[in-house]
Amino acid sequence: VIRLRALSKHFGAHTVLDAIDLDVRPGEVLAIIGPSGSGKSTLLRCINYLERPDGGTITIGPTTIDASMPVERAELSKLRRRVGMVFQSFNLFPHMTVLRNVSIAQERVLGRSRAEAEERAMQLLSRVGLADKAGQHPGRCSGGQQQRIAIARALALDPEVMLFDEPTSALDPELGLEVLAVMRELADSGMTMIVVTHEMGFAENVSDTVMMMADGDIVEKGSSNQVMRQPQQERTKRFLRAVH
Ligand code: ATP
Ligand code: MG
Repeated sequence: VIRLRALSKHFGAHTVLDAIDLDVRPGEVLAIIGPSGSGKSTLLRCINYLERPDGGTITIGPTTIDASMPVERAELSKLRRRVGMVFQSFNLFPHMTVLRNVSIAQERVLGRSRAEAEERAMQLLSRVGLADKAGQHPGRCSGGQQQRIAIARALALDPEVMLFDEPTSALDPELGLEVLAVMRELADSGMTMIVVTHEMGFAENVSDTVMMMADGDIVEKGSSNQVMRQPQQERTKRFLRAVH
């Protein structure tokens, strides 16, 4: 579903992504690990063009975007519609109910009727265990609940791929577990996922593939067992020793 070729990003003279090539299969769960500043968030943000890459191509499903060419708005919105994203900070709309948070984009972006959008939103809230919060405002929900609402909101647009950028790092460990359980369920359901994470348990137990980044490069990538238990590169060994 996802194919990146020579994806590059510079901030001034600083190379943040150095010609990244990456393929993610349908249903694959890829965990990205690596030290702070290695370019993990920038990579995710480039995949859906929240950050404009300087060069390379991004293919998601049938859509390919060449970053060296001007990109049409219509192409961009097609790309973004295929990609759901969940951030460390949940960014829910505080003045809307939980239900409205999950239903509104379905109406605006997909043109669903209010009734259809709300029915789908209720299904998704049930799936993340929060049907009983539908009528409340997000401010009255715990961080773990808010993050699960953010996941439901992203799923509401029926994305082909879900990107997660450290979805549990702002949460107490216990609340993080609720979110990880939802992510594991999503992975088991066959969703294609790219997850930037500091949760080594997730990388080891839930993801199929682990990719280690440092200084804008892919240091190594392999099955989660292989990278987490028998890393080949000294840089990966050092990183894993430091975080364990
Ligand atoms: P962390 O684990 O801390 O989240 P990361 O791997 O996600 O780190 P990025 O946020 O992708 O790292 O940042 C990679 C590099 O790009 C860093 O050196 C950062 O300072 C730089 N960078 C990111 N965004 C910008 C920006 N808008 N302007 C200038 N430099 C930036
Ligand atoms: Mg980051």
